[in-house]
Amino acid sequence: MRILLSNDDGYTSPGLHALYAGLQRIAEVTVVAPEQNASAASNALTLNRPLSVYEAPNGFRYINGTPSDCVHVALTGLLSFRPDLVVSGVNNGANLGDDTIYSGTVAAATEGFLFGVPALAVSLVDKGWAHLDCAVDVAVGVAAELLRELTHAGTPVPALYNLNVPNVTRAALRGLQVVRLGKRHPSQPVVMQKDPRGEPIYWIGGAGGARDDVAGTDFHAIAQGYASLTPLQLDLTHYQMLDACRSRFAVDAAAEGPTT
Ligand code: MN
Repeated sequence: MRILLSNDDGYTSPGLHALYAGLQRIAEVTVVAPEQNASAASNALTLNRPLSVYEAPNGFRYINGTPSDCVHVALTGLLSFRPDLVVSGVNNGANLGDDTIYSGTVAAATEGFLFGVPALAVSLVDKGWAHLDCAVDVAVGVAAELLRELTHAGTPVPALYNLNVPNVTRAALRGLQVVRLGKRHPSQPVVMQKDPRGEPIYWIGGAGGARDDVAGTDFHAIAQGYASLTPLQLDLTHYQMLDACRSRFAVDAAAEGPTT
């Protein structure tokens, strides 16, 4: 079994190195990761300049692009094989609820999923790496199960998973819950400052606090001391609105007959 491993914190990130070591227990692992930290890059692809691939002394390959660029280049030209699983992480910080829209960690996994490869994004909830070993163990367990499914279930429908693990010891972790994404409050306002020439500049403000943190959400599971696993889908269609939207906006010129 072969795993393509990427991230959004860059190829030197401790989270990437620890997950690489952990995943080697269950598969052959190839790393293609961004050269620079690309957190919050979302699903961006670089289309306005070419990309270069470099190799670090440890064999990790890195690209001067986004997380999505890395997985895209790996799957469509760089690798001589098709991986069985794409894993992204371990990210330095949570990717819960609406964060998943902005997350470069989730985006790297998403890019694999878009090419039909099962994919897993892994994030350590609180920054710093105090209990990275615990997050790696949980991630390797989930990845191993995904690979087992490939072995025993024939051709399963590729799925995309988002895993968050509290930054706690293995003994303190209460388990793993499979939950839906919660919703956040809107982000805090931008912070306006003046540049040295007196012109206004703006810093994007911090994320909003958890709002929809009722039981059954990832925010709630994490708050209770569990790791959270959410299967994701990419179809943004609002199915419940389709009928109402049709009656307001749909026009069928052919059905109405020719106008004069
Ligand atoms: Mn990151």
